Amino acid sequence: MSRYQYIRKCYKLISDIFKSEGKANKAAAVASNTTTSALKNSLHEIQTELLRSQIGSKWSVIDAIYATRAAQILPRQCPLCAHNAPDQFFPKMQSYCIFGGGDLLRHLCPKCNLVFGPDKMFDLTSLGLAEEYTWHYKAYREGDSTESEIRTFHKLEPSKNGTYLNYGAGNWSNTMQILRSQGWNVYAYEPHDSASFCDKYDWVIDTKQRLSEISFDGIFSNNVLEHLRNPVQELHHMSTLLNKNGTMAHATPCYEYLYEYTRFHLFFFAGKSKDLLLEKAGLQLVDELIDGSYHCRVAKPFCYGTGV
Ligand SMILES: [Zn+2]
Repeated sequence: MSRYQYIRKCYKLISDIFKSEGKANKAAAVASNTTTSALKNSLHEIQTELLRSQIGSKWSVIDAIYATRAAQILPRQCPLCAHNAPDQFFPKMQSYCIFGGGDLLRHLCPKCNLVFGPDKMFDLTSLGLAEEYTWHYKAYREGDSTESEIRTFHKLEPSKNGTYLNYGAGNWSNTMQILRSQGWNVYAYEPHDSASFCDKYDWVIDTKQRLSEISFDGIFSNNVLEHLRNPVQELHHMSTLLNKNGTMAHATPCYEYLYEYTRFHLFFFAGKSKDLLLEKAGLQLVDELIDGSYHCRVAKPFCYGTGV
């Protein structure tokens, strides 16, 4: 339906509500409520369409600006291995954001195989990146990944006596409700308001301050690592939250160059880079599961040893 058709539909719905006003009988009241609900839905559809248009317009302007300065880029540095070379020696990976974010030009590090970018997302401040998520989640919703999240949780080989953390939990899956109803002591960490839980449960943590007050026997995430602006630092921070012999399990298809059609995927830990990521964060791999696009890596801090 076009924007014009949405507006025509709203106009008719509003007219119907006015016509039903003053009619005291119950049938008219019920009809009015139904019309009001339909009006809300139509207005929401218009809002979503306008937001998507606004996002697309913003990024097409940014793309035009970045295109003019492409030739001015100085030597490029890999954000993981720090390999430094002229930009032309980093092979380019091109894609397009299906969420209105325009052209996606990323770079492949010839030394560690990390794919990173686009520059326009890296150039955002942390506040700017948070605002991007806020607008994105007003116009789009994430899919339900309950099954993968629960699968990743169990890769921790959890104990009913342990305390666990779902890092970057979001609020689109039923993982937390299911695990907690099964008696697991699991917390959810989600710092972004736009993605956080509508209901404030006591097991939802939304600040790093509160996170630092609890220690965990295991930390897991699903489809999170590729979104982190500083994944090494963030993984290292997670390791400081672990109890002795604690474990982490992080699943994402972006251990390869997959699901590249969103500007929010900043890193793809292809080839050697997935091991280097762990090494830089002071972690060592203890288990790995690859099943189709499901890819989970389980790690422990170096200082605890693998126990094998
Ligand atoms: Zn590199």
